[in-house]
Amino acid sequence: MSELHPPAPVAPAAPPVPLTGRTALVTGVSGQDGGYLAELLAAEGTLVHGVRRGTGPLPPHLAALGDRLVVHTADLLDPSAAAALVREVAPDEVYNLAAESSVARSWSQPVETALLDAVLPAAILHAAAGVTGTSGEPVRVLQASSAEVYAGAGVTPQSEATPVVPVTPYGAAKAYAHHLVQLHRAGGMFAVNAVLYPHESPRRPAQFVTRKITSTVAAIARGRADELVLGNTAARRDWGWAPDSVRAMVLALRHGEPLDVVVATGTSHSVEDFVAAAFTRAGIDEWRHLVRSDPAFWRPNDAADLVGDPSLARTALGWSTTVAFADVVGSMVDADLALLDA
Ligand code: GDP
Repeated sequence: MSELHPPAPVAPAAPPVPLTGRTALVTGVSGQDGGYLAELLAAEGTLVHGVRRGTGPLPPHLAALGDRLVVHTADLLDPSAAAALVREVAPDEVYNLAAESSVARSWSQPVETALLDAVLPAAILHAAAGVTGTSGEPVRVLQASSAEVYAGAGVTPQSEATPVVPVTPYGAAKAYAHHLVQLHRAGGMFAVNAVLYPHESPRRPAQFVTRKITSTVAAIARGRADELVLGNTAARRDWGWAPDSVRAMVLALRHGEPLDVVVATGTSHSVEDFVAAAFTRAGIDEWRHLVRSDPAFWRPNDAADLVGDPSLARTALGWSTTVAFADVVGSMVDADLALLDA
């Protein structure tokens, strides 16, 4: 499922904005956020250097960027490869989005998680020190930090002032990078933590509960599956809309002063709420008998309720979310139904 890409929305082709001379390096460009970010930056005239691990054909939304996207293939488990790219490209902006992004997988892949989520940002920050971008200014670095760094703080909602208390290998690796960004900032670098709460879209890979739910509900609606098997459906998350989160990253990196900023909607929903909204969108009113719990999908140290306080993003960046929860779920269900009907 993660290999499948939903059809691109049909929109009239706008004439391209001229290139501004600004360059950005985006690690993890083939991921959900990397794709939306590359599209946003290219549309405003930034030349995007995107780094990905794999080779092979680009997904359609990246291929559509043409010569506004320069693709670099690098094994980011090797931190020296990323450092070399930062020095070679010498961009104005670095967005470090490459990560092992699944909390569940961080328990089974702790070494890969540490290399990608902690060592890679260390290498990028170290390499960026002293790099001057194409515009003549020192490079700015944005680190995709995570709500999971606050998972053990016992505070709801969480804000930039919440103590960093990770409870998973993923959270611990992200916490290391989070602190390192702050240390580099104290040393004079323009380095920013965007503390991202979960953010979804039809491009979300299927190992995340949201896409698992919407793809399975769509399959049930089309008679191709007969049950949805989940773990902890009481867990609550602050699910936003991925293109909104990516817009916050750009605003944060272009802010007058470097800062850490929580990127969240401010409202959490349970996994069960998500399930209910997905079945409703698919037109299935009686759904409880279609959902089963399996201990295999329960995980250790699962954060019960992660919800962020977006006050600083609102006041400092003028940012707010544009897509409500029901529409996030709805767009994912619609895209999964369209994939099945194609
Ligand atoms: P992540 O925790 O940020 O990696 O995001 P996930 O989408 O994987 O998980 C979000 C929440 O959904 C967690 O609290 C999980 O325990 C919960 N969850 C419940 N059932 C499932 C399931 O079947 N798969 C996944 N991935 N998560 C589940």
